[in-house]
Amino acid sequence: MHSATSKKVTAIKKDRPEIFLELTRSLCPACRKIIDADVLVRDNKVFMHKYCPEHGWFDALVSNDFEHYRAGLQFNKPGTIPLTFNSEVKKGCPQDCGLCPEHKQHTCLGILEITDACNLRCPNCFAGAGGNSFLSVDQVKNMLELLMTSEGNPEVIQLSGGEPTLHPELFSIIALAQQMGIKVVQLNTNGIRIAQDDAFLEQLTRLKPSIYLQFDGFTSDVYLQLRGQDLLETKLRAIDRLAEQGFNIVLAATVIQGLNDSQLGQIAEFAVKHKSIRGVMFQPVTYTGRHQDFDPMHRTTLPDVLSALDAQTAGLLTKKDFIPVPCPYPTCSAITYVYNDGNEITTLPRLVNVEDYLDYFKNRFITDLSPLTQGALEGLWSACATPGSDDVNNNFAGCCGFSTESIKELEEEITMVGVHAFMDPYNFDLKRAKKCCIHQVLPEGKLVPFCVYNNLKRGCQHG
Ligand code: SF4
Ligand code: SF4
Ligand code: SF4
Repeated sequence: MHSATSKKVTAIKKDRPEIFLELTRSLCPACRKIIDADVLVRDNKVFMHKYCPEHGWFDALVSNDFEHYRAGLQFNKPGTIPLTFNSEVKKGCPQDCGLCPEHKQHTCLGILEITDACNLRCPNCFAGAGGNSFLSVDQVKNMLELLMTSEGNPEVIQLSGGEPTLHPELFSIIALAQQMGIKVVQLNTNGIRIAQDDAFLEQLTRLKPSIYLQFDGFTSDVYLQLRGQDLLETKLRAIDRLAEQGFNIVLAATVIQGLNDSQLGQIAEFAVKHKSIRGVMFQPVTYTGRHQDFDPMHRTTLPDVLSALDAQTAGLLTKKDFIPVPCPYPTCSAITYVYNDGNEITTLPRLVNVEDYLDYFKNRFITDLSPLTQGALEGLWSACATPGSDDVNNNFAGCCGFSTESIKELEEEITMVGVHAFMDPYNFDLKRAKKCCIHQVLPEGKLVPFCVYNNLKRGCQHG
Protein backbone atom coordinates (compact mmCIF):
# COMPACT_ATOMS: atom_id res chain seq x y z
CA MET A 1 0.00 0.00 0.00
CA HIS A 2 1.20 3.49 -0.84
CA SER A 3 1.29 6.03 1.87
CA ALA A 4 0.13 9.34 0.51
CA THR A 5 2.72 11.99 1.08
CA SER A 6 1.24 15.43 0.94
CA LYS A 7 3.53 17.86 -0.86
CA LYS A 8 2.46 21.46 -0.61
CA VAL A 9 2.21 23.23 -4.00
CA THR A 10 3.06 26.88 -3.71
CA ALA A 11 2.67 27.88 -7.37
CA ILE A 12 -0.50 29.87 -8.15
CA LYS A 13 -2.42 29.33 -11.36
CA LYS A 14 -2.96 32.46 -13.41
CA ASP A 15 -5.80 33.41 -15.74
CA ARG A 16 -5.03 34.10 -19.36
CA PRO A 17 -5.16 37.79 -20.22
CA GLU A 18 -7.69 37.18 -23.00
CA ILE A 19 -11.02 35.43 -23.60
CA PHE A 20 -11.24 32.75 -26.26
CA LEU A 21 -14.18 33.71 -28.47
CA GLU A 22 -14.07 31.18 -31.30
CA LEU A 23 -11.93 29.24 -33.72
CA THR A 24 -11.90 30.19 -37.39
CA ARG A 25 -9.71 29.64 -40.44
CA SER A 26 -7.36 32.28 -41.72
CA LEU A 27 -4.18 32.63 -43.75
CA CYS A 28 -0.49 32.65 -43.02
CA PRO A 29 0.55 36.20 -44.01
CA ALA A 30 3.90 34.85 -45.24
CA CYS A 31 2.88 31.89 -47.44
CA ARG A 32 -0.96 32.30 -47.64
CA LYS A 33 -1.46 28.73 -46.42
CA ILE A 34 -4.88 28.21 -44.82
CA ILE A 35 -4.37 27.85 -41.09
CA ASP A 36 -6.55 27.79 -37.97
CA ALA A 37 -6.89 31.01 -36.01
CA ASP A 38 -8.10 31.62 -32.48
CA VAL A 39 -10.28 34.71 -32.22
CA LEU A 40 -9.55 36.31 -28.86
CA VAL A 41 -10.79 39.30 -26.90
CA ARG A 42 -8.49 41.41 -24.74
CA ASP A 43 -9.07 44.93 -23.45
CA ASN A 44 -12.27 45.14 -25.54
CA LYS A 45 -10.25 44.43 -28.72
CA VAL A 46 -10.78 41.42 -30.99
CA PHE A 47 -7.70 39.86 -32.51
CA MET A 48 -6.49 36.67 -34.19
CA HIS A 49 -3.78 34.44 -32.83
CA LYS A 50 -2.58 31.89 -35.40
CA TYR A 51 0.26 29.54 -36.18
CA CYS A 52 1.84 28.49 -39.46
CA PRO A 53 4.08 25.39 -39.10
CA GLU A 54 6.58 27.02 -41.47
CA HIS A 55 6.46 30.69 -40.48
CA GLY A 56 5.48 30.66 -36.84
CA TRP A 57 3.02 32.71 -34.81
CA PHE A 58 1.06 35.78 -35.94
CA ASP A 59 -1.22 38.11 -33.98
CA ALA A 60 -3.49 40.44 -35.95
CA LEU A 61 -6.08 42.98 -34.89
CA VAL A 62 -9.64 42.39 -36.12
CA SER A 63 -11.67 45.04 -34.31
CA ASN A 64 -10.82 47.76 -31.86
CA ASP A 65 -14.27 47.44 -30.25
CA PHE A 66 -15.51 44.04 -29.10
CA GLU A 67 -18.87 45.43 -27.96
CA HIS A 68 -19.50 46.76 -31.44
CA TYR A 69 -18.31 43.48 -32.98
CA ARG A 70 -20.62 41.41 -30.77
CA ALA A 71 -23.65 43.65 -31.25
CA GLY A 72 -23.21 43.48 -35.02
CA LEU A 73 -23.61 39.71 -35.18
CA GLN A 74 -27.39 39.94 -34.72
CA PHE A 75 -27.69 41.51 -38.20
CA ASN A 76 -27.21 38.33 -40.15
CA LYS A 77 -29.84 37.30 -42.64
CA PRO A 78 -30.32 34.02 -44.50
CA GLY A 79 -28.45 33.96 -47.78
CA THR A 80 -30.03 33.60 -51.23
CA ILE A 81 -29.07 30.71 -53.47
CA PRO A 82 -27.77 31.76 -56.90
CA LEU A 83 -29.44 30.24 -59.96
CA THR A 84 -26.31 28.29 -60.93
CA PHE A 85 -22.97 27.32 -59.44
CA ASN A 86 -19.76 27.29 -61.41
CA SER A 87 -17.69 24.79 -59.46
CA GLU A 88 -18.02 21.72 -57.27
CA VAL A 89 -17.00 21.02 -53.72
CA LYS A 90 -13.76 19.09 -54.06
CA LYS A 91 -10.79 20.43 -52.13
CA GLY A 92 -12.65 22.45 -49.50
CA CYS A 93 -13.21 26.14 -48.90
CA PRO A 94 -11.75 28.47 -50.13
CA GLN A 95 -10.16 26.38 -52.85
CA ASP A 96 -13.35 25.54 -54.73
CA CYS A 97 -14.47 29.04 -55.77
CA GLY A 98 -16.79 29.34 -57.37
CA LEU A 99 -19.28 29.94 -56.58
CA CYS A 100 -19.43 26.38 -55.24
CA PRO A 101 -22.70 24.99 -53.87
CA GLU A 102 -21.55 25.58 -50.29
CA HIS A 103 -21.26 29.35 -50.73
CA LYS A 104 -23.75 31.08 -48.45
CA GLN A 105 -24.79 34.11 -50.47
CA HIS A 106 -25.53 35.06 -54.07
CA THR A 107 -23.81 37.92 -55.91
CA CYS A 108 -25.07 41.35 -54.82
CA LEU A 109 -22.29 43.17 -56.65
CA GLY A 110 -20.22 41.74 -59.49
CA ILE A 111 -16.81 43.33 -60.05
CA LEU A 112 -15.16 43.15 -63.47
CA GLU A 113 -11.51 44.16 -63.58
CA ILE A 114 -11.17 45.13 -67.21
CA THR A 115 -7.48 46.06 -67.04
CA ASP A 116 -4.47 45.80 -64.72
CA ALA A 117 -2.97 49.00 -66.17
CA CYS A 118 -3.00 52.23 -64.16
CA ASN A 119 -1.83 55.83 -64.52
CA LEU A 120 -0.81 55.86 -60.83
CA ARG A 121 1.52 53.67 -58.78
CA CYS A 122 -0.07 54.07 -55.36
CA PRO A 123 2.20 52.77 -52.60
CA ASN A 124 -0.92 51.04 -51.23
CA CYS A 125 -2.79 49.26 -54.02
CA PHE A 126 -4.72 46.13 -53.09
CA ALA A 127 -4.62 45.10 -56.76
CA GLY A 128 -0.90 45.72 -57.14
CA ALA A 129 -1.82 47.38 -60.44
CA GLY A 130 0.87 48.26 -62.95
CA GLY A 131 0.40 45.87 -65.84
CA ASN A 132 -0.58 46.39 -69.43
CA SER A 133 -3.37 43.94 -70.21
CA PHE A 134 -6.92 44.75 -71.23
CA LEU A 135 -9.89 42.41 -71.50
CA SER A 136 -11.56 42.31 -74.90
CA VAL A 137 -15.19 43.35 -75.30
CA ASP A 138 -16.00 39.70 -76.08
CA GLN A 139 -14.41 38.56 -72.83
CA VAL A 140 -16.43 41.15 -70.92
CA LYS A 141 -19.59 40.01 -72.71
CA ASN A 142 -18.94 36.41 -71.64
CA MET A 143 -18.35 37.55 -68.06
CA LEU A 144 -21.62 39.49 -68.02
CA GLU A 145 -23.43 36.47 -69.42
CA LEU A 146 -21.90 34.33 -66.68
CA LEU A 147 -23.19 36.78 -64.08
CA MET A 148 -26.64 36.74 -65.67
CA THR A 149 -26.73 32.95 -65.67
CA SER A 150 -25.97 33.00 -61.97
CA GLU A 151 -28.10 36.01 -60.97
CA GLY A 152 -30.90 36.34 -63.50
CA ASN A 153 -31.03 40.12 -63.64
CA PRO A 154 -28.04 41.58 -61.83
CA GLU A 155 -28.88 45.08 -60.62
CA VAL A 156 -25.39 46.50 -60.47
CA ILE A 157 -21.89 45.77 -61.71
CA GLN A 158 -18.68 47.63 -61.11
CA LEU A 159 -16.02 48.11 -63.78
CA SER A 160 -12.69 48.23 -62.03
CA GLY A 161 -8.97 47.66 -62.51
CA GLY A 162 -6.27 48.90 -62.46
CA GLU A 163 -7.71 52.10 -63.81
CA PRO A 164 -10.65 51.25 -66.10
CA THR A 165 -10.68 54.67 -67.78
CA LEU A 166 -7.45 53.61 -69.57
CA HIS A 167 -9.26 50.82 -71.39
CA PRO A 168 -9.40 51.74 -75.10
CA GLU A 169 -12.88 50.16 -75.40
CA LEU A 170 -14.35 51.41 -72.15
CA PHE A 171 -17.31 53.08 -73.81
CA SER A 172 -18.23 49.94 -75.77
CA ILE A 173 -18.06 47.96 -72.51
CA ILE A 174 -20.30 50.37 -70.59
CA ALA A 175 -22.78 50.49 -73.48
CA LEU A 176 -22.79 46.70 -73.70
CA ALA A 177 -23.57 46.28 -69.99
CA GLN A 178 -26.34 48.85 -70.24
CA GLN A 179 -27.80 47.16 -73.34
CA MET A 180 -27.76 43.84 -71.52
CA GLY A 181 -30.15 45.36 -69.00
CA ILE A 182 -27.89 46.00 -66.02
CA LYS A 183 -29.56 48.86 -64.19
CA VAL A 184 -26.48 50.42 -62.66
CA VAL A 185 -23.04 50.29 -64.23
CA GLN A 186 -20.52 51.75 -61.84
CA LEU A 187 -17.08 52.97 -62.87
CA ASN A 188 -14.40 52.69 -60.18
CA THR A 189 -11.86 55.39 -61.02
CA ASN A 190 -9.09 57.56 -59.63
CA GLY A 191 -10.64 60.47 -61.59
CA ILE A 192 -7.49 61.63 -63.42
CA ARG A 193 -8.90 61.27 -66.95
CA ILE A 194 -12.19 62.81 -65.85
CA ALA A 195 -10.32 65.85 -64.52
CA GLN A 196 -7.98 66.24 -67.48
CA ASP A 197 -9.50 64.90 -70.68
CA ASP A 198 -12.41 66.87 -72.19
CA ALA A 199 -13.07 64.45 -75.03
CA PHE A 200 -13.13 61.51 -72.62
CA LEU A 201 -15.60 63.24 -70.31
CA GLU A 202 -17.81 64.18 -73.23
CA GLN A 203 -18.09 60.54 -74.33
CA LEU A 204 -18.59 59.34 -70.76
CA THR A 205 -21.41 61.82 -70.28
CA ARG A 206 -23.37 60.18 -73.09
CA LEU A 207 -23.42 56.92 -71.14
CA LYS A 208 -23.59 58.36 -67.60
CA PRO A 209 -22.36 55.44 -65.51
CA SER A 210 -22.39 55.89 -61.75
CA ILE A 211 -18.94 57.10 -60.67
CA TYR A 212 -17.12 55.48 -57.75
CA LEU A 213 -14.39 58.05 -57.22
CA GLN A 214 -11.26 57.50 -55.19
CA PHE A 215 -11.14 60.48 -52.78
CA ASP A 216 -9.03 60.25 -49.64
CA GLY A 217 -9.12 63.68 -48.02
CA PHE A 218 -8.56 67.41 -48.20
CA THR A 219 -4.81 67.81 -47.78
CA SER A 220 -1.91 67.26 -50.13
CA ASP A 221 0.04 65.08 -47.70
CA VAL A 222 -2.71 62.45 -47.77
CA TYR A 223 -2.37 62.06 -51.53
CA LEU A 224 1.42 62.20 -51.47
CA GLN A 225 1.54 59.30 -49.04
CA LEU A 226 -1.39 57.24 -50.31
CA ARG A 227 -1.19 57.90 -54.05
CA GLY A 228 2.42 58.92 -54.57
CA GLN A 229 1.55 62.42 -55.83
CA ASP A 230 -0.48 65.46 -54.81
CA LEU A 231 -3.88 64.88 -56.40
CA LEU A 232 -6.06 67.16 -54.29
CA GLU A 233 -6.77 69.70 -57.04
CA THR A 234 -7.29 66.90 -59.59
CA LYS A 235 -9.87 65.23 -57.36
CA LEU A 236 -11.79 68.44 -56.70
CA ARG A 237 -11.72 69.28 -60.39
CA ALA A 238 -13.05 65.81 -61.27
CA ILE A 239 -15.94 66.28 -58.83
CA ASP A 240 -16.79 69.71 -60.26
CA ARG A 241 -16.72 68.44 -63.83
CA LEU A 242 -18.85 65.40 -63.01
CA ALA A 243 -21.33 67.57 -61.10
CA GLU A 244 -21.64 69.94 -64.06
CA GLN A 245 -22.63 67.01 -66.25
CA GLY A 246 -25.11 65.58 -63.74
CA PHE A 247 -23.33 62.37 -62.80
CA ASN A 248 -24.07 60.44 -59.60
CA ILE A 249 -20.86 60.27 -57.58
CA VAL A 250 -19.90 57.98 -54.72
CA LEU A 251 -16.64 58.83 -52.97
CA ALA A 252 -14.37 55.97 -51.92
CA ALA A 253 -11.89 56.92 -49.20
CA THR A 254 -9.08 54.65 -48.08
CA VAL A 255 -8.46 55.23 -44.38
CA ILE A 256 -5.02 54.96 -42.79
CA GLN A 257 -4.50 55.41 -39.07
CA GLY A 258 -2.62 58.64 -38.35
CA LEU A 259 -2.79 59.87 -41.95
CA ASN A 260 -6.36 60.83 -42.86
CA ASP A 261 -8.46 59.49 -39.99
CA SER A 262 -8.80 63.06 -38.68
CA GLN A 263 -10.52 64.10 -41.95
CA LEU A 264 -13.34 61.54 -42.07
CA GLY A 265 -15.95 63.89 -40.64
CA GLN A 266 -14.98 66.57 -43.16
CA ILE A 267 -15.28 64.07 -46.05
CA ALA A 268 -18.71 62.88 -44.82
CA GLU A 269 -20.04 66.44 -44.39
CA PHE A 270 -18.75 67.42 -47.83
CA ALA A 271 -20.59 64.42 -49.31
CA VAL A 272 -23.84 65.09 -47.44
CA LYS A 273 -23.93 68.75 -48.52
CA HIS A 274 -22.85 68.23 -52.14
CA LYS A 275 -25.77 67.90 -54.57
CA SER A 276 -24.04 65.42 -56.88
CA ILE A 277 -22.41 63.20 -54.29
CA ARG A 278 -24.80 60.39 -53.40
CA GLY A 279 -22.58 58.42 -51.10
CA VAL A 280 -19.23 57.95 -49.43
CA MET A 281 -17.64 54.63 -48.60
CA PHE A 282 -14.77 54.54 -46.12
CA GLN A 283 -12.40 51.63 -46.60
CA PRO A 284 -9.83 50.91 -43.89
CA VAL A 285 -6.61 50.16 -45.75
CA THR A 286 -5.87 46.50 -46.49
CA TYR A 287 -2.45 45.03 -46.85
CA THR A 288 -2.78 42.96 -50.02
CA GLY A 289 -1.11 43.64 -53.33
CA ARG A 290 1.34 46.53 -53.03
CA HIS A 291 1.54 48.10 -49.59
CA GLN A 292 3.71 49.92 -47.12
CA ASP A 293 5.02 48.38 -43.90
CA PHE A 294 2.57 48.30 -41.02
CA ASP A 295 1.95 46.82 -37.59
CA PRO A 296 -0.88 44.26 -37.82
CA MET A 297 -1.91 44.97 -34.22
CA HIS A 298 -2.32 48.71 -34.83
CA ARG A 299 -4.60 49.60 -37.69
CA THR A 300 -7.91 51.28 -38.46
CA THR A 301 -10.84 48.90 -38.00
CA LEU A 302 -14.50 49.40 -38.87
CA PRO A 303 -15.64 50.78 -35.48
CA ASP A 304 -12.69 53.22 -35.49
CA VAL A 305 -14.16 54.86 -38.58
CA LEU A 306 -17.55 55.11 -36.86
CA SER A 307 -15.96 56.60 -33.74
CA ALA A 308 -14.09 59.15 -35.85
CA LEU A 309 -17.28 60.17 -37.67
CA ASP A 310 -19.07 60.43 -34.34
CA ALA A 311 -16.32 62.62 -32.89
CA GLN A 312 -15.78 64.78 -35.98
CA THR A 313 -19.30 65.62 -37.21
CA ALA A 314 -20.79 67.40 -34.17
CA GLY A 315 -23.80 65.08 -33.94
CA LEU A 316 -24.48 64.81 -37.68
CA LEU A 317 -23.42 61.16 -37.57
CA THR A 318 -23.19 59.08 -34.43
CA LYS A 319 -22.03 55.51 -34.02
CA LYS A 320 -25.65 54.49 -33.45
CA ASP A 321 -26.69 55.72 -36.89
CA PHE A 322 -24.75 52.90 -38.54
CA ILE A 323 -26.30 49.45 -38.94
CA PRO A 324 -24.35 46.44 -40.24
CA VAL A 325 -25.27 45.29 -43.75
CA PRO A 326 -26.88 41.86 -43.24
CA CYS A 327 -26.41 40.24 -46.66
CA PRO A 328 -22.69 39.51 -46.26
CA TYR A 329 -21.23 38.55 -42.89
CA PRO A 330 -22.31 41.44 -40.66
CA THR A 331 -18.84 42.47 -39.49
CA CYS A 332 -17.86 43.27 -43.10
CA SER A 333 -19.68 46.57 -43.49
CA ALA A 334 -22.02 49.08 -41.89
CA ILE A 335 -23.95 51.93 -43.46
CA THR A 336 -26.44 54.68 -42.82
CA TYR A 337 -28.47 57.08 -44.95
CA VAL A 338 -28.49 60.81 -44.33
CA TYR A 339 -31.49 62.91 -45.35
CA ASN A 340 -30.78 66.57 -46.12
CA ASP A 341 -33.63 68.64 -47.56
CA GLY A 342 -31.79 71.94 -47.16
CA ASN A 343 -33.47 72.74 -43.84
CA GLU A 344 -33.09 69.59 -41.86
CA ILE A 345 -30.33 66.98 -41.77
CA THR A 346 -31.12 63.67 -40.11
CA THR A 347 -30.43 59.97 -40.59
CA LEU A 348 -32.79 57.18 -41.55
CA PRO A 349 -32.30 55.25 -38.28
CA ARG A 350 -33.59 58.37 -36.48
CA LEU A 351 -36.78 58.26 -38.59
CA VAL A 352 -37.44 54.50 -38.64
CA ASN A 353 -36.45 51.79 -36.19
CA VAL A 354 -34.10 50.11 -38.66
CA GLU A 355 -32.52 47.90 -36.00
CA ASP A 356 -35.77 46.05 -35.27
CA TYR A 357 -36.40 45.36 -38.92
CA LEU A 358 -32.92 44.09 -39.70
CA ASP A 359 -32.38 42.06 -36.55
CA TYR A 360 -33.23 38.68 -38.06
CA PHE A 361 -32.95 36.78 -34.80
CA LYS A 362 -35.26 39.08 -32.87
CA ASN A 363 -37.59 39.41 -35.86
CA ARG A 364 -39.01 35.96 -35.41
CA PHE A 365 -40.70 37.11 -32.24
CA ILE A 366 -41.91 40.51 -33.42
CA THR A 367 -45.18 40.21 -35.30
CA ASP A 368 -46.16 43.85 -35.81
CA LEU A 369 -43.45 44.82 -38.31
CA SER A 370 -44.66 45.99 -41.72
CA PRO A 371 -43.41 43.69 -44.52
CA LEU A 372 -43.29 46.68 -46.89
CA THR A 373 -40.99 48.62 -44.60
CA GLN A 374 -38.91 45.50 -44.05
CA GLY A 375 -38.54 45.00 -47.83
CA ALA A 376 -37.59 48.64 -48.36
CA LEU A 377 -35.00 48.57 -45.59
CA GLU A 378 -33.56 45.29 -46.84
CA GLY A 379 -33.15 46.98 -50.23
CA LEU A 380 -31.31 49.87 -48.61
CA TRP A 381 -29.11 47.76 -46.34
CA SER A 382 -27.73 45.63 -49.15
CA ALA A 383 -24.48 45.55 -51.06
CA CYS A 384 -26.66 45.98 -54.21
CA ALA A 385 -27.83 49.40 -53.02
CA THR A 386 -26.18 52.01 -55.25
CA PRO A 387 -26.51 55.56 -53.94
CA GLY A 388 -28.52 57.72 -56.33
CA SER A 389 -30.23 54.77 -58.03
CA ASP A 390 -34.00 54.65 -58.50
CA ASP A 391 -34.18 51.58 -56.25
CA VAL A 392 -32.50 53.40 -53.37
CA ASN A 393 -34.73 56.46 -53.78
CA ASN A 394 -37.90 54.35 -53.99
CA ASN A 395 -36.96 52.26 -50.98
CA PHE A 396 -36.08 55.35 -48.95
CA ALA A 397 -39.41 56.94 -49.86
CA GLY A 398 -41.22 53.68 -49.09
CA CYS A 399 -39.93 53.25 -45.60
CA CYS A 400 -40.38 56.95 -44.71
CA GLY A 401 -43.87 57.25 -46.25
CA PHE A 402 -42.87 59.94 -48.77
CA SER A 403 -45.19 60.44 -51.73
CA THR A 404 -44.26 59.20 -55.19
CA GLU A 405 -44.07 62.81 -56.45
CA SER A 406 -41.25 63.57 -54.06
CA ILE A 407 -39.07 60.65 -55.19
CA LYS A 408 -37.23 62.59 -57.91
CA GLU A 409 -36.33 65.34 -55.43
CA LEU A 410 -35.07 62.71 -53.03
CA GLU A 411 -32.19 61.91 -55.34
CA GLU A 412 -30.31 65.02 -54.21
CA GLU A 413 -31.42 64.75 -50.59
CA ILE A 414 -30.15 61.29 -49.65
CA THR A 415 -26.53 60.38 -49.03
CA MET A 416 -25.33 56.93 -48.09
CA VAL A 417 -22.40 56.89 -45.68
CA GLY A 418 -20.74 53.55 -45.11
CA VAL A 419 -17.66 51.62 -44.05
CA HIS A 420 -16.45 48.47 -45.78
CA ALA A 421 -13.63 46.59 -44.06
CA PHE A 422 -12.04 44.36 -46.69
CA MET A 423 -9.67 41.65 -45.51
CA ASP A 424 -5.97 40.96 -45.98
CA PRO A 425 -3.89 37.91 -45.02
CA TYR A 426 -3.52 39.24 -41.47
CA ASN A 427 -7.20 39.56 -40.53
CA PHE A 428 -8.63 37.14 -43.11
CA ASP A 429 -11.57 35.20 -41.66
CA LEU A 430 -12.92 32.40 -43.82
CA LYS A 431 -16.42 32.53 -42.36
CA ARG A 432 -16.76 36.10 -43.66
CA ALA A 433 -15.53 35.07 -47.12
CA LYS A 434 -17.97 32.18 -47.19
CA LYS A 435 -20.92 34.58 -46.96
CA CYS A 436 -19.41 37.25 -49.18
CA CYS A 437 -21.83 38.86 -51.66
CA ILE A 438 -19.26 40.94 -53.59
CA HIS A 439 -17.79 38.74 -56.24
CA GLN A 440 -15.02 39.11 -58.74
CA VAL A 441 -16.25 37.94 -62.15
CA LEU A 442 -13.37 36.17 -63.90
CA PRO A 443 -12.84 35.67 -67.65
CA GLU A 444 -12.29 31.95 -67.03
CA GLY A 445 -15.93 31.61 -65.97
CA LYS A 446 -15.76 31.81 -62.19
CA LEU A 447 -17.25 34.06 -59.54
CA VAL A 448 -14.89 34.47 -56.61
CA PRO A 449 -15.58 36.28 -53.33
CA PHE A 450 -13.66 39.53 -53.54
CA CYS A 451 -11.53 38.99 -50.43
CA VAL A 452 -10.67 35.43 -51.49
CA TYR A 453 -9.62 36.76 -54.88
CA ASN A 454 -7.46 39.52 -53.43
CA ASN A 455 -5.71 37.25 -50.97
CA LEU A 456 -5.40 33.98 -52.82
CA LYS A 457 -6.06 34.23 -56.52
CA ARG A 458 -4.80 37.56 -57.76
CA GLY A 459 -2.05 37.05 -60.28
CA CYS A 460 -0.75 40.61 -60.63
CA GLN A 461 1.49 41.41 -57.69
CA HIS A 462 3.72 43.66 -59.77
CA GLY A 463 4.48 47.30 -59.26
S1 SF4 B 1 -15.53 30.87 -50.53
FE1 SF4 B 1 -17.56 30.21 -51.16
S2 SF4 B 1 -17.37 29.67 -53.29
FE2 SF4 B 1 -15.33 29.74 -52.45
S3 SF4 B 1 -14.93 27.61 -51.83
FE3 SF4 B 1 -15.73 28.69 -50.05
S4 SF4 B 1 -17.89 28.30 -50.06
FE4 SF4 B 1 -17.15 27.79 -52.10
S1 SF4 C 1 -4.97 51.93 -55.95
FE1 SF4 C 1 -3.81 53.41 -57.19
S2 SF4 C 1 -2.36 52.15 -58.40
FE2 SF4 C 1 -3.97 50.78 -57.61
S3 SF4 C 1 -5.49 50.68 -59.23
FE3 SF4 C 1 -6.16 52.28 -57.81
S4 SF4 C 1 -5.31 54.19 -58.63
FE4 SF4 C 1 -4.23 52.50 -59.63
S1 SF4 D 1 -15.54 41.61 -50.01
FE1 SF4 D 1 -14.63 40.89 -48.10
S2 SF4 D 1 -15.25 42.37 -46.57
FE2 SF4 D 1 -16.59 42.63 -48.37
S3 SF4 D 1 -18.40 41.37 -48.02
FE3 SF4 D 1 -16.93 40.10 -49.11
S4 SF4 D 1 -15.75 39.04 -47.52
FE4 SF4 D 1 -16.80 40.73 -46.55
